[in-house]
Amino acid sequence: MKKPFITKEKINEIIQKYPTPFHIYDEKGIRENAKKVKEAFSWNPGYREYFAVKAAPNPFLMSIMKEYDCGMDCSSMAELMLSQAAGISGEYIMFSSNDTPDEEFAKAAELNAIINLDDITHIDDLLRILGKVPETISCRYNPGGVYEISNGIMDNPGDAKYGMTKAQLFSAYKTLKNLGAKNFGLHAFLVSNTLTNEYYPTLARTLFVLAAEIKDELGIELSFINLSGGVGIPYFPEEEGNDIMIIGEKVKKAYDEVLVPAHLDNIAIYTEMGRFMTGPYGALITTAIHEKHTYKEYIGVDACAANLMRPAMYGAYHHITVLGKEDAPLSHMYDVTGSLCENNDKFAVDRMLPTIERGDILFIHDTGAHGHAMGYNYNGRLRSAEILYKTDGSFELIRRAETTSDYFATLDCFPISEKLLQ
Ligand SMILES: *Cc1c(COP(=O)(O)O)cnc(C)c1O
Repeated sequence: MKKPFITKEKINEIIQKYPTPFHIYDEKGIRENAKKVKEAFSWNPGYREYFAVKAAPNPFLMSIMKEYDCGMDCSSMAELMLSQAAGISGEYIMFSSNDTPDEEFAKAAELNAIINLDDITHIDDLLRILGKVPETISCRYNPGGVYEISNGIMDNPGDAKYGMTKAQLFSAYKTLKNLGAKNFGLHAFLVSNTLTNEYYPTLARTLFVLAAEIKDELGIELSFINLSGGVGIPYFPEEEGNDIMIIGEKVKKAYDEVLVPAHLDNIAIYTEMGRFMTGPYGALITTAIHEKHTYKEYIGVDACAANLMRPAMYGAYHHITVLGKEDAPLSHMYDVTGSLCENNDKFAVDRMLPTIERGDILFIHDTGAHGHAMGYNYNGRLRSAEILYKTDGSFELIRRAETTSDYFATLDCFPISEKLLQ
């Protein structure tokens, strides 16, 4: 059973000030979860979560996580600037490169961020751009093939564009050491949105064994191992969520069994979760504005895929609660649609929901990660506002909705009358 984190009354109060659609975030949920993540890995003195900024690139949310000692995982100029704006720099930024333009490497270096190299050729890029390699540097590993964890969950790192082969990884560390690097990290992201407590522990064991090999072969003792993202959340009501406390314990077990005997018990564990940090604590609030009965029953809402792309892009499930009708029978099968001229613009297909009337408010669950962040302007649709539902029960606008002036801002090369834009 999925329950909204906010009441219909409160939403109605917010709508008086900020019309739908908007994304709303639950400060209390974000805080409680961030605290738990920190506790789960407190056995490791150097532990740090680097929030994957791309999941919810909002400095208000980033600042909340910073209070729990989180760093930020960035991979673009704007994400680096957002971190800077939130007062985050130095070793609190992980910069994950990936087909990265020169100026972004330069910006990451200017902020003293930890640079995580996606490819061995990026060493030459750093030498060209910075004239040297940073003292602290990380490398991203891709084991290739198929990576399997418990209960048949797997992914195909061999098809993924990220990371270095094992041979390249060893060669990169050797080169970096010769060039004067002193502190080394290892990073891998092999499976996305996993719903099992086994993913991190399995990945950790793989990377710990590799760390021991790196020590034996290259004489390099890694400073940190970054388990990256991939810890999933239950989008379907019948799914069971991950237990971060169990995940933390199981990573510790692998640490004690592999790293400690290899005399590598000073290695810090890093994570880069995005979805797990904010996903369940955000929702898209939208109003039903049309009903249509043709070959199917449609409910048209005032949000569209430009506000939440996952259903259209991946066929992803997002649970929907009709506020005030939580206990009503699920008597109708609807497609819930947006206004894009794209037939995939549907938040739900053949979904059993209570009878929906015009004016009903829909709470679309689990949009706190990769929700507003993936917004776009197709069909001239505008990105919605973001609102923080605060711990004390008040609410605050943390990003205003776009206006048509924002849309036209990049057309300042075309003569458009001021009057039109008012
Ligand atoms: C997207 C991404 C993450 C976060 O992934 P989630 O599945 O949201 O936890 C972490 N690290 C890197 C490098 C990423 O690209």
